[in-house]
Amino acid sequence: MPEPTLNDARSAALYAEALRVLPGGVNSPVRAMRSIGRDPIFVAGGEGPEIVDVDGNRYLDYVCSWGPLIHGHAHPVVLDAVREAAARGTSFGAPTAGEVELAEEVAARIPSVEMVRMTSSGTEASMSALRLARAATGRETILKFSGAYHGHVDGLLAEAGSGLATQGIPASPGVPAAATAATVIVGWNDAEALRAATERHELAAIVAEPYPANMGLVPPAPGFLELLRERADANGALLIFDEVISGFRVARGGAQQLSGVTPDLTVLGKVIGGGLPAAAYAGPRALMERVAPAGDVYQAGTLSGNPLAVAAGLATLRLLDDDAYARLAATTERLASGLRAAAADAGRAVHVTAATGLLTVFFGAGPVRDYADAAACDRDAHAAWCRELLARGVYPPPSQFEAWFPSLVHDDDAIDRTIEAAAAAFAAIA
Ligand code: PMP
Repeated sequence: MPEPTLNDARSAALYAEALRVLPGGVNSPVRAMRSIGRDPIFVAGGEGPEIVDVDGNRYLDYVCSWGPLIHGHAHPVVLDAVREAAARGTSFGAPTAGEVELAEEVAARIPSVEMVRMTSSGTEASMSALRLARAATGRETILKFSGAYHGHVDGLLAEAGSGLATQGIPASPGVPAAATAATVIVGWNDAEALRAATERHELAAIVAEPYPANMGLVPPAPGFLELLRERADANGALLIFDEVISGFRVARGGAQQLSGVTPDLTVLGKVIGGGLPAAAYAGPRALMERVAPAGDVYQAGTLSGNPLAVAAGLATLRLLDDDAYARLAATTERLASGLRAAAADAGRAVHVTAATGLLTVFFGAGPVRDYADAAACDRDAHAAWCRELLARGVYPPPSQFEAWFPSLVHDDDAIDRTIEAAAAAFAAIA
């Protein structure tokens, strides 16, 4: 049987054109697919679990806009809500009823949330949550985990080489050393390093993705989230959960509902905007009322709480009932176990991590407990597997350091076709 190949002539032509006007040909780096050694695929549209590219190739999509599309592409209920909102006008720079409804909906789902401030991106929301934590504690230093991503905020763009607590070093030119000097970095799931760092530094906040998904999905070890809460309290720091990915995905009330560990502040994004630009930071009234104009901590946004984004977010959340989470859990489990079996059949050692609506196939025997473990995986083999998947009509996140986003419209047939393609892709790279 001939190996399938991708006809991507129109994508290639568009990419050549894009390279003249967009840095790297894209508006966000991971879209360029450099980590799997190919050029980007230009998308023409999407429907349900599938996208179609400009060459007419169809793919089962596991990126789903990197998380917002928990109901898949072009969901009719979400589209209707956006159309109705758009017909009334796209933006007013004045309050609208939908913003109140959305905040109420979020507060009803997440017990630690009484008040919500909306922003347009997760980056803005985490930046603003840090400002609030620093104002509330009167401290500057923050602690984050290596391999965790909270947006391209200066002070959060820092990594450490090992699991030891170290002083942050800028991860990008243009980030002032002063911005990351107040960032302490600890290895994820490293209880000893966390203890040491929280004994040594007076922290404004411990910032964590409770289900980190930006080094691939690396779930918390049992007790680790509880330890975050305990160490934050002992230190006098606020605990900030960045639930931009896990919020409204791993459970109705996010990772905090799943784990029973309650943060002081929560950062939300992706699902909350239903595929339009929206994010938020949220928490109890006593903290949130420090934010202007209720309080003295300044933060603002021309398009914050945009009516179209709010409409998409509300429609998206209202479709997420208990039954939806049961279905998403079953879908994810079917996909995870199918991928494990396909790899085993092909004699390929992989370690598949999964949580409801999230999954990563690590090319290594595992376990994967932290960023160092994730980075030690066979990324070349992973890249080759991703290219083979694309040639077989499956669009995976094109990096070992990302999670798959199965949606509620990935039905059994879609999952089974995915597993079939995955098996063939494992065989092709053997
Ligand atoms: N936090 C997390 C956990 C994220 O995954 C991301 C983006 N992938 C962000 C924050 C930043 O969100 P945005 O891209 O909307 O700025």
